[in-house]
Amino acid sequence: MKNYWTKTKIDKLSSLWAKGTPAREIAEKLGNVSRNAVIGKANRLGLSKKLKEKESANSKNLNVNGLIASMKGCKWPIGHPGDEDFYFCGKEVIPGKPYCGEHCLVAYRRKDSSQKIKKFFKLSTD
Ligand SMILES: [Zn+2]
Repeated sequence: MKNYWTKTKIDKLSSLWAKGTPAREIAEKLGNVSRNAVIGKANRLGLSKKLKEKESANSKNLNVNGLIASMKGCKWPIGHPGDEDFYFCGKEVIPGKPYCGEHCLVAYRRKDSSQKIKKFFKLSTD
């Protein structure tokens, strides 16, 4: 295994790693190498730092999306996504709507006329 890391393999590792390919997959693609060996080599090549930054950016997005999907309450965003104090309202929503009453009002006021708000609330209270 001493001469495992040929230039071709290193190039392949670098390009796959840069794309954010999981170490396990890189190992499979390169063949005859363990996931740990791939990670170790990437570390020695100084590739791992780049990936970590990428991963944290991705996981932040994933967290927000996952949060929205798993949330039961109002999905009105408070603050700016990415900020530390960013959160979703989370109050009880109006059935069939993604927001609580308060934020439905804001949302509908933004999008449309007050007539639509009235219509919306008439429908929702029936
Ligand atoms: Zn709300």
